Amino acid sequence: MSNLNAGVVWGEDYKTLVKACKDGGYALPAVNVTGTNTINAVMEAAAKNKSDVVIQLSNGGAQFYAGKGMEDSFEAKVLGAVSAARHVHLLAQHYGICVILHTDHANKPLIPWVEAMITQSEENMKKNGVPLFSSHMLDLSADDIEFNLSESERLLKRLAPLGMSIEIELGVTGGEEDGVGSDEIDNDKLYTQPEDCLQAYERLSQIGHFSLAASFGNVHGVYKPGNVELRPEILKNSQALIQERHNTPRNPLDLVFHGGSGSEKAKIEEALTYGVFRMNIDTDTQFAFAEGVGDYVTSNVKAFQCQIDPEDGTPYKKQYDPRAWLRKGEERFIERLDEAFFDLKATGQSLAISTAKTKVA
Ligand SMILES: [Zn+2]
Repeated sequence: MSNLNAGVVWGEDYKTLVKACKDGGYALPAVNVTGTNTINAVMEAAAKNKSDVVIQLSNGGAQFYAGKGMEDSFEAKVLGAVSAARHVHLLAQHYGICVILHTDHANKPLIPWVEAMITQSEENMKKNGVPLFSSHMLDLSADDIEFNLSESERLLKRLAPLGMSIEIELGVTGGEEDGVGSDEIDNDKLYTQPEDCLQAYERLSQIGHFSLAASFGNVHGVYKPGNVELRPEILKNSQALIQERHNTPRNPLDLVFHGGSGSEKAKIEEALTYGVFRMNIDTDTQFAFAEGVGDYVTSNVKAFQCQIDPEDGTPYKKQYDPRAWLRKGEERFIERLDEAFFDLKATGQSLAISTAKTKVA
């Protein structure tokens, strides 16, 4: 097993980590974050589970990170992403884990957002010798495949020299993630065509590293079971077609599983055998954070209504201190991630040579 320095991975280290996941039959949770509470909780959970992890921001998450009050929302989406990236670059090595830093779905109107973030990485590379992110997602799955792939090629030509990767999407993940996506999609679009995957492989793999969100009936969010059927064998067929056509080793595509929240564990396990190296999780961790805070509020109602108990004068400062109740959200968030690391067989698999300060017994 090769080891990597703890911290944000990019370039060859990124590829080493992706390969280790696939060869080891495990995947990393890719967790959507919205601020320092959730970012720190992801790093704490990864360190606790001795696993590497993917930290990702949607455009809305990035905007929230910069602050909803910022007047220029485009600027907020760029600066929020940069700020979050700097936070992770500074702290990840101290948690002793490897982090893939990524941004989530960017559809056609969000192409300028991705381009602005690439410019920031180019500048950071000049100044500090590292890109800000490991990869960005470009999701043009709602457009025709020619536009999807030619835009992906164009951006990958800028990313590859920085040691950065691109994630693309073929077929459509059902549901909606932060304003990207739709509930009304033809059922056949929910399943990626192996021929499309082959075309993506042929066009992108010669430019740089790419990963693929292939659709196999996965849906964002948690819905009543029975709406769509997960068919992981679609992933298998796409891998087999490329392997056969280009005489590659097994599972040539690096696959990403979107809409993992609420999925059947057996289907997750099956998907892992077809080259999935990360699974996105957002809905379930959002709920976990809310549940942790909600339970705390419910059992300390008075502290959220008055600073001092009107009957007996008890001061509630300790209870309404944001550190008290935000921590409850973090704790439940971490518990949900314990489950994700376990389901994805990532527990104990970290490649990081820990630079965290070792505790002296
Ligand atoms: Zn997604």
